[in-house]
Amino acid sequence: MPMHPETEGPFPVTERLRLMCVHAHPDDESSKGAATMAKYVAAGVEVLVVSCTGGERGDILNPELQDDPHILRDLAQVRRDEMAAAQAILGVQHSWLGFVDSGLPEGDPLPPLPEGCFALEPLEVTIEALVREIRRFRPHVMTTYDENGGYPHPDHIMCHVVSVAAFDAAGDPAAYPHAGEPWQPLKLYYNGGFTKARIQALHDALVAMGEESPYAEWLAGWERPDRAVTTRIHAADYYDVRDRALLAHRTQIDPNGTWFKVPRDVQQREWPYEDYEAAASFVPIAEGEDDLFAGLGSAEKATATASSGGLHLVHDTRVERSA
Ligand SMILES: [Zn+2]
Repeated sequence: MPMHPETEGPFPVTERLRLMCVHAHPDDESSKGAATMAKYVAAGVEVLVVSCTGGERGDILNPELQDDPHILRDLAQVRRDEMAAAQAILGVQHSWLGFVDSGLPEGDPLPPLPEGCFALEPLEVTIEALVREIRRFRPHVMTTYDENGGYPHPDHIMCHVVSVAAFDAAGDPAAYPHAGEPWQPLKLYYNGGFTKARIQALHDALVAMGEESPYAEWLAGWERPDRAVTTRIHAADYYDVRDRALLAHRTQIDPNGTWFKVPRDVQQREWPYEDYEAAASFVPIAEGEDDLFAGLGSAEKATATASSGGLHLVHDTRVERSA
């Protein structure tokens, strides 16, 4: 009979560090921070991906699957299957928050968001759902998107709003008292993968090799100011895992598209890390940080800190979004 030492005797229960990564749609977890997650899984950290929506309104971006009747009949189920495949590749745990994809509104003027979608749900409903998940999984560290959503999809912006509010509320016994025992995650990071510095480095490397760069136009029109990267996770050894997880989202990714135009060895050489921005933390963020759990000590110590109450943020660079 198989033994599960973590949950059944005779071995003692061992505490492990826990990371929760909150994402808007299935596939976002594989395009933002996936190599980091795979690295932490390999190091024995428990990693949970939370998908706010089911991705029901995603476009089929793989030309080979565009007219597949099986996919068109039940895209929601296809995306659940794709997510399960990506989850297995990354070695993470996964939960669905259960909200419905808002879709990316296009046109001028923009059409209204569809009724019942994630971005239109009352905030107390969406925040409570994530607070419940935080109190169940008890992460020491959380990741989400910055206040611009990384890119302006309504679900990505809402993912930020809900994650930040849930990070603040989960440790407060007076907040959502029916959503489980209070638990305060100790650090909150924003995924910061798409910096100009990274895209420029990949572009320059391709040009120097005499290869065609898919980024020239993107760089020429770049207007977004770079985010304040505080933390770099060296994760080049896990880029293959990241790519396999991304490809598992078969309907959402064109295997011949921009994503896979830069050879993996060029990426590993030119930008061997995934970038993060510390948004809020109960421990100081050191200069040149290279670990999302830096400053927390052992899993036992981190849990003791998170459970101690009376904590004060020592780092908080979050921008209040005006409603
Ligand atoms: Zn998304």
